[in-house]
Amino acid sequence: MLRQLLHSVASARSTRAFRACLTALSCFGCGDQVRALDDSSYEAARETMVREQIVARGIRDPRVVEAMRLVPRHAFIPQAERDRAYIDAPVPIGQGQTISQPYIVALMTELVRPQSSDHVLEVGTGSGYQAAVLARLVAHVYTIELEETLGRRAQAVLGEQKSDNVTVRVGDGYGGWPEHAPFDIIIVTAAPEHVPQPLIDQLKPGGRLIVPVGPRFTVQQLQLLEKDAAGEVRTRNVSPVMFVPLRRP
Ligand code: SAH
Repeated sequence: MLRQLLHSVASARSTRAFRACLTALSCFGCGDQVRALDDSSYEAARETMVREQIVARGIRDPRVVEAMRLVPRHAFIPQAERDRAYIDAPVPIGQGQTISQPYIVALMTELVRPQSSDHVLEVGTGSGYQAAVLARLVAHVYTIELEETLGRRAQAVLGEQKSDNVTVRVGDGYGGWPEHAPFDIIIVTAAPEHVPQPLIDQLKPGGRLIVPVGPRFTVQQLQLLEKDAAGEVRTRNVSPVMFVPLRRP
């Protein structure tokens, strides 16, 4: 019966009604049970997301699929939007920013071919979700966020989730993170109008850089840049996308 009720509140149109129902449920003195059911309904939603949005659209790398299955996306989304954590779209995370659509997170992660010994730079921490997905697949993730409120919150959630191999810094990621360079992978999750030269410079030979490039608030091109052993960079357009802009302070 509780399961049915949760299912119906999950589809309730108003977030407030959803929260009121959950609060009401936990007031019946069965908090732990409700929490377990709540977690299992998120888990079911995540399984559906992986099946219908990730695998069905062609993400093949089993390590990437497994990471998408294991990271609790809802934990990275503010309470007010949490019931939309597994929808097939970006979701607001505050400060006018969004967490990317699950498929885009999986696509970008697969395209940079993460290896367990890799050191990764992310520009645009946002909620911390992309960093948490990568953290399961590589040695260390360094991630930079311009908005202090978001950076601090992401750091706290990543701590709760025991993503111990992620380091968050608040600041402008345009210049990369020279102290930890060079990187095997650089992933930019906000759109610059051109690829920042410092990021290209901070890529190792053999490294992969993925970045949405284009004008603000219109369609941009997701580009994959690969640096060969001789330092030559090859660029490939992957797909049209829409990201929030990379801003300069
Ligand atoms: N990867 C994030 C989504 C990021 S949205 C996630 O998984 O949730 C893009 C983020 O880039 C926003 O939080 C925005 O504040 C940040 N951003 C924009 N310009 C930036 C800059 N110059 N340096 C670092 N972060 C920036």
